[in-house]
Amino acid sequence: MFHAFLIKYGEIGIKGKNRYLFEDALVAQIRHALKPVEGEFRVTKEQGRIYAQAQGDFDFDEAVDALRRVFGIVGICPVVILEDQGFEKLGEDVVSYLKEQYGEDCDKTFKVHAKRARKTYPMASMEMNAELGARILDAFPKMQVDVHKPELMLHVEIREKIYLYSDVIPGPGGMPVGTNGKSMLLLSGGIDSPVAGYMVAKRGVKIDAVYFHAPPYTSERAKQKVVDLAEKVSRFTGPIYLYVVNFTDIQLYIYEKCPHDELTIIMRRYMMRIAERIAEKTGCLGLITGESIGQVASQTVPSLAATNEVCTMPVFRPLIAFDKEDIVTISKQIDTYETSIQPFEDCCTIFVAKHPVTKPNVNVIRRSEQKLAEKIDEMVDKAIETAELIVVG
Ligand code: ATP
Ligand code: MG
Repeated sequence: MFHAFLIKYGEIGIKGKNRYLFEDALVAQIRHALKPVEGEFRVTKEQGRIYAQAQGDFDFDEAVDALRRVFGIVGICPVVILEDQGFEKLGEDVVSYLKEQYGEDCDKTFKVHAKRARKTYPMASMEMNAELGARILDAFPKMQVDVHKPELMLHVEIREKIYLYSDVIPGPGGMPVGTNGKSMLLLSGGIDSPVAGYMVAKRGVKIDAVYFHAPPYTSERAKQKVVDLAEKVSRFTGPIYLYVVNFTDIQLYIYEKCPHDELTIIMRRYMMRIAERIAEKTGCLGLITGESIGQVASQTVPSLAATNEVCTMPVFRPLIAFDKEDIVTISKQIDTYETSIQPFEDCCTIFVAKHPVTKPNVNVIRRSEQKLAEKIDEMVDKAIETAELIVVG
């Protein structure tokens, strides 16, 4: 029954030039999201409005699902578009629309909000409100007008054609991806990092990702799991460039040279250094991790401080104060949870010591790292040069 969607978006902070950037990015993201949906859509920006107009038949539920993943959208209004065949016909069409949408027995309070974008239309908005209201009251004995807090707000927009809509399906909010630069997500196979990437992308940040792979200690399946997670996250963010770094030699070298209770922290410092180097090369302005205070030994505050010390880029840790339960809830909402809990080892679990340091002293850690001086720079360079790029989504 519907022909188009009117897209509502938040207005805050998008005055002046920002407004165009915001709207253009939103249009681009909507087009991208609707691409796999059955049907063809024309997405346009007109007079401060964004419409996604179907060109013929389309799958309504799929389209709504896709739009609900586009950050920046606050509301999705399904629209019926009518030819202008005179006011009498419009009155009849409005009544049939309401019957179809809400049933013959509808007992909602309502208000009509007519808007005349085409000024040559022979009736003024106020008059249309009153006339259409009267026809609705005639057709639905249980409906009542409430101009202050109506349960049903019927919008009637007179343009070249006539647009009717009354429902607002909530969108995800946030800002369109692409309006806030790009950052590099350290994506592991766990529950947290996909959620972290999702949350930062929701603020308009485009996401690249890096995964540290340690074959043969981590399997192809573990890598595939990360690709699958990137795919799931890309349903919200658009395509993700995933860099798979071979980390085995570096890990073995650290294992050989450094105290075993410091392995995790030193390894994490090299992950951050490598991620930052790739981020610089690819135009990212920040790093993103799934760290959360106190979750594991490498995420105590002293450990986080020791890890953070090696980067100059800002590190975004959106989950820093979240309980695991709340992270799990989001991962279920964004459909990454089932993939994250598949039991494939990740590279940190193989080299973990029985009693890792929980209060690393940065000076001690630096001294341990000096034992790597002979080969580590070369190994880091090689890891970056040989990183495999997989484009996902
Ligand atoms: P996650 O659930 O995201 O795996 P975690 O609770 O297992 O996190 P850690 O293993 O300490 O925590 O990792 C902390 C963060 O470091 C992760 O959220 C992720 O951002 C990054 N990270 C860890 N391992 C890897 C890896 N193999 N490749 C890329 N990033 C990683
Ligand atoms: Mg992990």
